[in-house]
Amino acid sequence: MTSDAVRAALAHVVDPEIRRPITELDMVRAVTVDGSRATVDLRLTIIGCPAAETIERDIRAAVLTVPGIDELDLVVGVMTVPEREALVARLRGTRTTQFGPDTLTKIYAVTSGKGGVGKSTLTANLAVALAATGLKVGLIDADVFGFSIPGILGIVGEKPTKVGDLMMPPVAHGVSVISIGMFVDGSTAVSWRGPLLHRTIQQFLTDVWFGDLDVLLLDLPPGTGDVAISIGQLLPHAEVLVVTTPQPAAADVAERSGLVARQTGQTVIGVIENMTGELFGSGGGDAVAARLDVPVLARIPLSVGLREGGDTGTPVVFADPSDPAAVAILSLAATLAARTRDLAGRKLPISPR
Ligand code: ADP
Repeated sequence: MTSDAVRAALAHVVDPEIRRPITELDMVRAVTVDGSRATVDLRLTIIGCPAAETIERDIRAAVLTVPGIDELDLVVGVMTVPEREALVARLRGTRTTQFGPDTLTKIYAVTSGKGGVGKSTLTANLAVALAATGLKVGLIDADVFGFSIPGILGIVGEKPTKVGDLMMPPVAHGVSVISIGMFVDGSTAVSWRGPLLHRTIQQFLTDVWFGDLDVLLLDLPPGTGDVAISIGQLLPHAEVLVVTTPQPAAADVAERSGLVARQTGQTVIGVIENMTGELFGSGGGDAVAARLDVPVLARIPLSVGLREGGDTGTPVVFADPSDPAAVAILSLAATLAARTRDLAGRKLPISPR
């Protein structure tokens, strides 16, 4: 009876990387109770699992809330190879169509005409803001020229954990993040050729285990190069957000990015104007939106907090939600979250024959 209660408590402990209860992941080998002392036999997925400390702490906290239990003996081991293979097969089974055409995950590719317009900063903050609304959010940093996402989210140097041939992405502020920067030293990816980039992105979409995401964001490189085309081919059902600054020159190149996305079958859903204010001229967002026939979904003001948050790895939407840029990004997140929930709640159209 009490060991059932301990198991029930353990069902609330979630593996921070796989984001499933440890009981569902076959990580709890055995639970025994002797008087007021519980013994839990835990099997980690891999040796040196970076999440081990968190899991052990959470187990301790959960088990000691069970009435009648005031001592915990936690035996920590590692899965055998066949156990791990069985787990990987099971996880794969739930995600073979992870981001296929009939996925329920909303996929937003964020593009811009040129670099330096704030695309990565906004994408990272938008991801954190969406996660804060309770959605499960993944972020793929495919910006070969920058891969600045790990820096903006404060996870520089973190790498995915390998479980069999699956990769568990690091989680930052509730967002599962994978970046080309996690696979290269320095900035060598800039010189990667199209086929290697294509394979890498394909691998991100198949071998990185994101779990059941509500939203996947992709930070694309600026412009209309190989990565944009690969994403267009691999995810033709993705929706595209175009980031521009207010200057007319920026607007021209931003429009081109939107048009290329459209050629691959993707739908441009709106424009985000960044660094809105007197300083940089005006009208860029409206101009791109008018030419692409989509709305301006947000105007993000210049903000020291947004920039500093990116430099220090603490996104402003998290550190200072009252900052005007954070307010604008949170409001954009609410708009997107509403569309996302609509879709998730909708029955698939099935027409009787
Ligand atoms: P991109 O991804 O388009 O190349 P980044 O996101 O790297 O651009 O942003 C370029 C620089 O501009 C960064 O230093 C970032 O902190 C800063 N930045 C972006 N948006 C704003 C803003 N609204 N206010 C102030 N600084 C910003």
